[in-house]
Amino acid sequence: SATKTVGELFGFDRLINDQERAIVDTVRDFGAKRLRPHVGEWFENGTLPVRDLAREFGALGLFGMHLEGYGCAGTSATEYGLACLEIEAVDSGLRSFMSVQGSLAMFALRAFGSDEQREEWLPRMAAGDAIGCFGLTEPDFGSNPAGMRTVAKRDGDDWVINGSKMWITNGSVADVAIVWARTDLEEGSRGVRGFVVPTDTKGFRSMVVKHKLSLRASITAELSFEDMRLPASAMLPGVTGLKGPLSCLNEARFGIVFGAVGAARDSLECALSYTADREVFDKPLSGYQISQTKLADMALEVGKAFLLAIQLGRIKDEGKIAPEQISLGKLNNVREAIAIARECRTLLGANGITLEYPVMRHANNLESVLTYEGTSEMHQLMIGKALTGQDAFR
Ligand code: FAD
Repeated sequence: SATKTVGELFGFDRLINDQERAIVDTVRDFGAKRLRPHVGEWFENGTLPVRDLAREFGALGLFGMHLEGYGCAGTSATEYGLACLEIEAVDSGLRSFMSVQGSLAMFALRAFGSDEQREEWLPRMAAGDAIGCFGLTEPDFGSNPAGMRTVAKRDGDDWVINGSKMWITNGSVADVAIVWARTDLEEGSRGVRGFVVPTDTKGFRSMVVKHKLSLRASITAELSFEDMRLPASAMLPGVTGLKGPLSCLNEARFGIVFGAVGAARDSLECALSYTADREVFDKPLSGYQISQTKLADMALEVGKAFLLAIQLGRIKDEGKIAPEQISLGKLNNVREAIAIARECRTLLGANGITLEYPVMRHANNLESVLTYEGTSEMHQLMIGKALTGQDAFR
């Protein structure tokens, strides 16, 4: 008998307009034709053809998609989220590529850069001719960036930066790095400032992180800065303190709220098709009650996650979203997505552990997504603080 998709069950069509639908169709088609055929190989080899992909993502307007001007597409936040969903349905590493370029590096320049900084970098980054990275995390400071040790000191008009950053997506392939460092301009973490660092600056070094078991179709690097001298004009003038990097993270987290739904939906679609074809004890696996319990529960969670993403998208498009609302989405949708990818893996049996199917690749990738852009525990603490008024971070 006829089958229904999760979207049909939940009536998703009523939630998105024609323009949003057109973006979904375009990005899904790009994913199917250009990305999906190669993603298993990229994951296996731990590489990504970043230069070629950057130009193709750029041509589609996927970089800095929801930013205004400087060659950016200027879409709504919801449209940007829907594009993230379709890219992450292929692979979380590819969505990371898009998030780091658009929501972290380009957003920092758009929101806090000088006119000269924006003009120098944004049009090239939007087109995919230049690649950016965002260096906040350090080897000893991830969830608590206020502890950062990277320091920028004045020397005449110049800045001299020393320190290191860890787990930096695109770090070894970037043309420009947005680097956050402690300065003596103000006390404590209020003195944190952002710097626009061309990666050919003397004293800048990157080293690829190897042997990852997660997000393999994404390049991750350690950055080190040794007496790295920059002109005064390299500092982002528009923000002081940690609210600079944290507001960039809110942009990227918003993309993850949608993106995680993509990884979950793709896993479920794979499990539905696999269980329909796979016969066990003389009938399709999809015909057994235990399978259907799993499939029904997963469909519910994919649908609920999408409803939450759309709700947050609409609030963001009104310009009213609060960080703890983004935490609701990031916590729930990534946590559910990883549970779904793992459950789908059980339905695929041994085949589920291979790269022939996407489920274990998604599950492994989502381990990183669970950790970066604020771990699940950090988001629980943010929601806890909103509910109780008490800060339990320390
Ligand atoms: P820790 O902060 O050491 O946390 C370890 C555990 O302790 C976690 O479970 C955490 O929830 C828990 N914990 C921490 N504090 C508390 C507390 N107060 N109460 C209870 N539990 C607590 N960073 C960038 O700056 N740029 C990037 O481009 C980037 N890309 C990344 C790509 C990948 C693949 C990965 C894995 C990470 C990336 N990161 C990037 C870093 C990422 O943001 C950090 O890994 C993340 O913030 C967590 O920091 P940590 O790994 O140091 O873990």
